[in-house]
Amino acid sequence: MNSSTTKSGLTFDIQPSDQRRTPQERAALLDNPGFGNVFTDHMVTIRYTEGKGWYDARVEPYAPLSFDPASANLHYAQEIFEGLKAYRHPDGTIACFRPEANAARMNRSARRMAMPELDEELFTGAIEALLGQDADWVPSQEDSSLYLRPFMFATDVGLGVNHPSRSYMFVLIASPSGPYFSGGIKPVSVWLSEDYTRAAPGGTGEAKFAGNYAASFVAQAQALEQGCDQVVWLDGVEHRWVEEMGGMNLFFVFGSGDGARLRTPALTGTLLPGVTRDSLLTLAPEFGIPVEEGRISTDEWRSAAESGELTEVFACGTAAVITPVGYVKSSHGEFRIGDGTPGPVTMRLREELVGIQYGSRPDTHGWIRDMV
Ligand SMILES: *Cc1c(COP(=O)(O)O)cnc(C)c1O
Repeated sequence: MNSSTTKSGLTFDIQPSDQRRTPQERAALLDNPGFGNVFTDHMVTIRYTEGKGWYDARVEPYAPLSFDPASANLHYAQEIFEGLKAYRHPDGTIACFRPEANAARMNRSARRMAMPELDEELFTGAIEALLGQDADWVPSQEDSSLYLRPFMFATDVGLGVNHPSRSYMFVLIASPSGPYFSGGIKPVSVWLSEDYTRAAPGGTGEAKFAGNYAASFVAQAQALEQGCDQVVWLDGVEHRWVEEMGGMNLFFVFGSGDGARLRTPALTGTLLPGVTRDSLLTLAPEFGIPVEEGRISTDEWRSAAESGELTEVFACGTAAVITPVGYVKSSHGEFRIGDGTPGPVTMRLREELVGIQYGSRPDTHGWIRDMV
């Protein structure tokens, strides 16, 4: 075993895989990776024990993990995750977009789930250490990137439920991802979920907590049954205030041309504070598009769409960046947004954000962090 010190000054033990894919095998996998199906040759693992802190940081061959059947994560779901991407820039360097924001959010999620926090340097150091072995897996094709999935879970053995686990494991895996939209950007249709709630005040909605997804699949299945692509979540109390779409935040465009303005649901504690959402709150005003964090009811959504005052709606998140929403359906009826095609505000913001991430537009906010 050898070791490597990352840019952040942290040392990871490196156990290089003796089963690395050949350049030809890698090229074939990078040709059409889809999303979240193909993984690189290595992973990072770091252990934590109460009283001792984080220790045993390593980069090792990507492989199955094994658990005791009484391992806490399998019973009480103390598991949180993050999602960000590494982009290949035109000069060949590899950069991440606001990784410190993901590190900070992981710590907020950790606090909510009574899990230990991880220094920002350890979080970004893990990414640097993994890229130190797997940099060749960062695609250079257009609209392709290496999706990074850091996650943390409880590893105590025992079924006691009176206290959180005292030991944890942090793991980082990476998955090359191709263009989210093959064949152009197509607006999605959404189903407004009135039967199920994603989050309630005081609950876990603002944490990137695995269980939020477990609870969402039945509503997503209902959306598909209704012929829609995605579920839209409403507030858990009155079931009328729009919160978010699947795993993405929502923006509403009112007016058009010079009069266009944006509204996005405010962070009330029940929606996930997206890094993409936050970045758009900064970028839009720079384009002369005022943006307001507020609230929008399902009634206003429908009436403003029908009157034409609401011109565009889009969802945003790391994986798909910005996705237009073209069609809305609920148990009370259905309606279209604009003419059902991607709108100009949606596409302009998308182009700018993607340009910054891939290094073709200037990074005036210090959002880009060179990793390798
Ligand atoms: C991750 C996530 C988002 C988007 O967050 P980004 O940081 O922009 O990727 C939005 N909603 C939910 C429920 C999420 O899990």
